[in-house]
Amino acid sequence: MKYISTRGQMEPIEFQDAVMTGLAPDGGLLLPESLPKIENRLAEWSELSYQELAFEIISLFVTDIPPADLAELITDSYATFDDEEIAPLVEVGEFHILELFHGPTLAFKDVALQFLGNLFEYILERRGGKLNILGATSGDTGSAAICGVRGKPNINIFIMHPAGRTSPLQEKQMTSVLDDNVFNLALDGTFDDCQNIMKTIFSDVRFKTECSLGTVNSVNWARVLAQTVYYFYAAFRAMEKTGADSVRFSVPTGNFGDILAGYIAQKMGLPICKLILATNENDILSRFFNSGTYGMADVVPTLSPSMDIQVASNFERYLYFKMGQNPEKLVSLMAGFQEKGSLFVELNENGVVDDLFVAGRGDTAATLATIKKYHDLYGYVLDPHTAVGVTVAEKFQSLDVPTVCLATAHPAKFTQAIIDATGEGVRHPALDALADAETRCDSIANDIVAVKDYLIGHI
Ligand SMILES: *Cc1c(COP(=O)(O)O)cnc(C)c1O
Repeated sequence: MKYISTRGQMEPIEFQDAVMTGLAPDGGLLLPESLPKIENRLAEWSELSYQELAFEIISLFVTDIPPADLAELITDSYATFDDEEIAPLVEVGEFHILELFHGPTLAFKDVALQFLGNLFEYILERRGGKLNILGATSGDTGSAAICGVRGKPNINIFIMHPAGRTSPLQEKQMTSVLDDNVFNLALDGTFDDCQNIMKTIFSDVRFKTECSLGTVNSVNWARVLAQTVYYFYAAFRAMEKTGADSVRFSVPTGNFGDILAGYIAQKMGLPICKLILATNENDILSRFFNSGTYGMADVVPTLSPSMDIQVASNFERYLYFKMGQNPEKLVSLMAGFQEKGSLFVELNENGVVDDLFVAGRGDTAATLATIKKYHDLYGYVLDPHTAVGVTVAEKFQSLDVPTVCLATAHPAKFTQAIIDATGEGVRHPALDALADAETRCDSIANDIVAVKDYLIGHI
């Protein structure tokens, strides 16, 4: 399987190169040349364990790693999860909740970042060389990325977070990792400052090459690929439980990475009849699917910070399919967006962008009400991101087909919101253990030169 760029200006490359490249040189995102169709394998796959299923699916997209090595990479990536099912599906009221928070940092990002960290190391061991990962985080991504590469000899990771602006728990999750290859930088500025510094450094191609800089954000195809697995796994479990022959998924969405994996699974032939896209007040994507217009607005802070995003980095992959896989059309659409800050897609005969999607938003009041409702009625605590997904799923509920709601974080990560909603907090032993943990973190000025000097001094 080879990989191409959504913008059409790159010769097809192999999977391992796609993993190391991240973003295509023409500014596009990478996608497989074609999507394997798997309808006739569904019955057989429904019998597999999570790891076996991951192997079957990922193998279809990875033809440059020997099967035995790939199987080992997958087994290692999920060995740190605390549930033997990896992603268990539990019934709560009318919904099936897919718990994606059983990894080491208690958010769904572990599902892909454990795998990506192992992949990086595998590739570097064979090709030689070092990778220096530079990232900016407002919380969850940083700790999952650090956890995915900690202690790996050929990789250093530098994560900038805005000093004093992430939750104390999220900060502790990052700074308590004391491995020599992990560098936490508390930047004297906002998350946007961290992100801008990162983007400026990456746009300096010479510096980027000299320092072998790499990224872990969700433009990396390997992340999307690892996430398609749980759509299959959950669909099989929901269909077994209910006897239905299709499923709906509700996905709390920020960068469009998670729901894109569902879209890919559907295109491969998994019987998904609806993707319910849920946003918080930062609702650029839900407005798009309802109106056809994708237009920027200001980011407002909410209870679900990992979804406080303006421009969704994976959205270009969806638009590429929407444009009939025509790179020229995609390029002109993106150029218009760059220029005007908005783009428009024609609505279909049903007055929507795409019949597969419905979309809505759950605001702060609705999020708190949903957390309280599921706590009071069913004794089940939803984290605020998951609660946004459940809020929107309720608006579109249909009892004909089972609805799977993706639970993207453990509620203990966001205990203050849970206290606000229900009056009592939630704990998790992994987080309790952080209370007295030793930490290491360097303060740094909000300045590109200071960050560059730090990188040069530590690699
Ligand atoms: C990152 C994140 C999301 C959003 O996922 P995207 O792939 O960016 O759409 C939702 N919930 C949690 C807890 C997250 O960490």
